Order: sequence, then structure tokens, then C-alpha cells
Amino acid sequence: MATRRDLAEYHRKRDFARTGEPKGANDAGPPREGTGDGAFVVQLHEASTTHFDFRLEADGVLKSWAVPKGVSTDPGDKRLAVPTEDHPLEYGDFEGVIAAGEYGGGTVMVWDTGDYRNLSKRHGEPIPLADALEHGHAAFWLDGDKLHGGYALTRLRDGAWLLVKERDKHASSAGSPPHPHRMRSALTRRTLGQIAADEDAER
Ligand code: MN
Repeated sequence: MATRRDLAEYHRKRDFARTGEPKGANDAGPPREGTGDGAFVVQLHEASTTHFDFRLEADGVLKSWAVPKGVSTDPGDKRLAVPTEDHPLEYGDFEGVIAAGEYGGGTVMVWDTGDYRNLSKRHGEPIPLADALEHGHAAFWLDGDKLHGGYALTRLRDGAWLLVKERDKHASSAGSPPHPHRMRSALTRRTLGQIAADEDAER
């Protein structure tokens, strides 16, 4: 059932002579076996539109969705999540500036990261996360720096997904989030502006 790790689309979209994003290998060993527990990352991406990218480790890649409004802690918020190409695992700690004119040009911050526990079931039985995604419904528990508790991803008829907080002790009604320019990296505590300034200083 598990698909082979395939980064062809990721590679096709990028010129690695011009972007500092990790290339990742297509053949970096077999996917991890087991229930599908692994890492998650939410990147804040100030590209042509500012959005968040939600990524879950499965089958040796980061399964990825663009989430325009970010991940909510309020079970009443159904957040649109548009699937994007699989990313290499190494992308999980990528922060920096993608050159203007390149695919996704703009600043990337690791807004949150940590481990997830797969809670997906089918007909009452636990199933691997990759299988759950193929079937269009996955449930998982996030242990991040900012995000905690149960979440579910559900595919709609049109191919878009909804990312929704489950009702548990970590649920809370979402106040208005800080402006993206005031958000800080879970890895380095830097703002988008500081990440861009550091990259300028390196050149
Ligand atoms: Mn993005």
C-alpha cells in the first residue's frame, strides 16, 4: 500500500543552483516501518501570498499542504489545506530566503515543529498514516512547541482538505493570532525579518 518515496515533482519545480532549499535524495533508503509516527513541521512562508505549510512525515517524505490561514486551536475553525508536492525530510528544519523569481520565492520560518502520534483508524483498526491519507482521512496527535493535541485532516470531493482541531483539553477558542511579522521561529526564535536580515548578512 505504501507508495515509494518520490521527490520528482519537488525536484522539477526547483533549480538547486539558485535556491538554498535542501535537495533531498530520491533513494535515501526504505521508508520507516510501523504505525507512521514521526515528525511534523509548520512553516510560515512569506511568498507571493503569506501562508503556512503543514507537513507530516510519512513514507520517508514530508507529506505537505499549504494552509492559507494557519493551524487553529479552535475545533470550530475548519482550515482549508491545499495539497502540495512531497518534500524531503531535510526540509523540516529549513529556514531561509528562497530567491525572488524561484518557485516559492520569499522567506521561510519554522513556525512550529515536533513529533506526531498517528491515531488513524479504518473500520475501527489502527492503520498507517500514509494509508489513512490515501483513504482521505487521518487523525494524529501533535506534540509541538506551539501546537498540542489531536487534529484531523479530511479530504473533500474537490481534492482540497480540511485541517481541524479535535475537541480535547488542548482545544481553545482562537483569539486573533499575532501578525505574521511578529511571529517567531520555534527553532531559532527569529522573526521573518531577522531570518531575511541574517541571510543578507551572509552574502
Ligand atoms: Mn509555501
